[in-house]
Amino acid sequence: MEEKLIKDYSSPGRKGYSLPPLEVEKSNLAENLADYLREDLELPEVSEVDVVRHYTALSEMNYGVDSGIYPLGSCTMKYNPKRNERVARTSGLTNIHPYQPVEQLQGSLELLYQLKLDLAEISAMDEITLQPASGAHGEFTSLLIVKKYFADREEERTKVIVPDSAHGTNPASAAMAGFDVVEIASNERGMVDLDALAEALDEKTAALMLTNPNTLGIFEEDILKITEMVHEVGGLVYYDGANMNAIMGYAKPGLMDFDLMHFNLHKTFSTPHGGGGPGSGPVGVKDFLAPYLPKPLLKKDEEKYYWDYQRPKSIGKVHSFYGNYGVMLRAWSYIKTVGGSGLKETTENAVLNANYLKAKLKNDFELPYAEDSLHEFVLSGSRQKEEGASTLNIAKRLLDYDQYAPTIYFPLVVKEAMMIEPTETENIGTLDHFVETMLTISREIKENPEIVKNAPHSTIVRKLNETEAARNPDLHW
Ligand SMILES: *Cc1c(COP(=O)(O)O)cnc(C)c1O
Repeated sequence: MEEKLIKDYSSPGRKGYSLPPLEVEKSNLAENLADYLREDLELPEVSEVDVVRHYTALSEMNYGVDSGIYPLGSCTMKYNPKRNERVARTSGLTNIHPYQPVEQLQGSLELLYQLKLDLAEISAMDEITLQPASGAHGEFTSLLIVKKYFADREEERTKVIVPDSAHGTNPASAAMAGFDVVEIASNERGMVDLDALAEALDEKTAALMLTNPNTLGIFEEDILKITEMVHEVGGLVYYDGANMNAIMGYAKPGLMDFDLMHFNLHKTFSTPHGGGGPGSGPVGVKDFLAPYLPKPLLKKDEEKYYWDYQRPKSIGKVHSFYGNYGVMLRAWSYIKTVGGSGLKETTENAVLNANYLKAKLKNDFELPYAEDSLHEFVLSGSRQKEEGASTLNIAKRLLDYDQYAPTIYFPLVVKEAMMIEPTETENIGTLDHFVETMLTISREIKENPEIVKNAPHSTIVRKLNETEAARNPDLHW
């Protein structure tokens, strides 16, 4: 199935609509706008049918959560109920404007306020801002808070410690906020090495950024010791809460003594994502950091909900208006419809599914860390690489079997890494099908690695140059 570019369907005079002749006098709008009207605008001239068929064809070439399993570790989309879309499109919620007087927006603000309370309950944090637009943006916002907090205390702290298994956004956010990033190695069990941490900690330490369970899916069993060690030198502990489906209903970052954190509403709390957005990365903090949160902060007095701008210590605004409202609505709808017990069940199923896959795959693929893991786990394709096909080849071969690949070559601590997160949504049939496919590919590599090395064979485009599209984009518009 080949699909041309829309401009290649163009034929002079074709139109996307047909209307009866004009019965009213033409306005002179065009005269006033003459300076802006362009004669040589090369837009494709296509019929409505051309347009609809073209974009439908493109959408059918795409793979998404509505096509099949999407076991992309860490960054994957979890459950995206369609009912949330309906809620987010409710006209009373979409036909409003942030500049309307708050008196007219009370219902909408109530939803956001409830979302704040729910996130605070889930995380054991005291105050929440919904402003940041992504996980990385939440990290950056949090680090600005850390910075302001220490500036206020006239403490010069320049270091942010990040374990080598961290998501790449962690060191990037710390560097962007102007900190020196200090990486510490994990121990042989895939957890924070306490000796390495002790060595890195000093009076210059502003914060430790930690994901727990970490990107190997492993829960840091010494977490209380870790947070205590950082606090002892006067530093803060930051929780990367992108993937709360590993712990919701079972553990809370606030109770692990984390001081601040971000959530990814577009991962755990159900907004579809990909292609760069939209997202939402709320930040939660303990009381003592609340004065530094971005302004305005959503508050409630006896009579009404309102935006509090009187926040002299605030780091300022980090997003236009109040953040990505549509994403917040979906998260609110998700939390309210599944309820507390549903969130807990989400965690149980996410962990069960990941462990089921791990048990079924660990004999045929190397499992570098044998520790118990939660919502995701990491395999290595090293054995297969020796046999003639790399992890990248395996990922491409999965496409031939109509399934999406896991996250590959991440975390960096594992060679030929395959990071697998099936999510809570998949049933046992889908999981078994994925296992069978992985075992088939493993067999193929033993018998005829060329087939896997040259995959994909059945997709619209074959193997792509991994960097060419980013370095030399060939754009048409
Ligand atoms: C996805 C993810 C992030 C970054 O979130 P974005 O919304 O993509 O910026 C940070 N940390 C972890 C562990 C993640 O999985």
